[in-house]
Amino acid sequence: LKISNKMASLCPITLLGPYLDYMKESLLQPLWTYLRTNHQEVLRSPLFPVIISVSTYFMACLLYMTLDSLSLVVPGINSYRIHPDQPVKLQSILKAIWLTVYNHVVFVFPAAAAQWYWRPPLPLEEKAPTVLEFTMGILGCTLLFDFQYYFWHMIHHKIQWLYVTFHAIHHEYFQPFCWVTQYMSAWELVSVGFWTTIDPIILQCHILTGYAFMVFNIWISVDDHSGYDFPWSLHNWIPFGLWGGSVKHDTHHQKPMTNFEPFFSHWDWLCGTHSDH
Ligand SMILES: [Zn+2]
Ligand SMILES: [Zn+2]
Repeated sequence: LKISNKMASLCPITLLGPYLDYMKESLLQPLWTYLRTNHQEVLRSPLFPVIISVSTYFMACLLYMTLDSLSLVVPGINSYRIHPDQPVKLQSILKAIWLTVYNHVVFVFPAAAAQWYWRPPLPLEEKAPTVLEFTMGILGCTLLFDFQYYFWHMIHHKIQWLYVTFHAIHHEYFQPFCWVTQYMSAWELVSVGFWTTIDPIILQCHILTGYAFMVFNIWISVDDHSGYDFPWSLHNWIPFGLWGGSVKHDTHHQKPMTNFEPFFSHWDWLCGTHSDH
């Protein structure tokens, strides 16, 4: 028996056991364990999704606003703008920021407070998602959001009453810049916020994946409205024109009956609403 025990302990599988376990563990596990251990209350708070959404939005806008200011004096930056001959006017920026602040004070923060009051803290599971689950979760949520917004957006252009009441405000700008992203009616803001919150739940994503999707979703929405066409922009390296990005959304602001899809291009192709220029 002693010999067979010794043999078993020398067996490669037994020797590799701890390492195999380590390999089975997600690459995101150390990060998740750190977050769970040190920031549990923050992660579980129903306010946290609002905090990360709002802070990501303001940081992304501040980044692009800095680029807009620099583009006035650095021709190298201005050359990446979709409309290099039309600088963003200070008056347009202030008007867009004003509505953004108004929407946040009147709708977003009260909604967040209500959520904080009604929703119990979220449970945090011990295991992190695998890198594959994490990536596919973000992709799945982005595809689902893209589908929901496409149809919302299309009917809000095709039905005159819906357009005038809820969506025309977003089209006050013909050449978008970062702050135009959330220059929208409360109904549009609520719809977008609702899908961003509900999509990770529908697709049963890990909470880490859900938060990462929120950040990603806001980043690509601001990038869509940034007015920049950088070589590293997603639409320049995702093949077959599958990603619409800033150039396609800029076209939507000039030809509003085309390019209803916020991120990808497939629904515009399938429904005949696509326009390149
Ligand atoms: Zn827009
Ligand atoms: Zn529109």
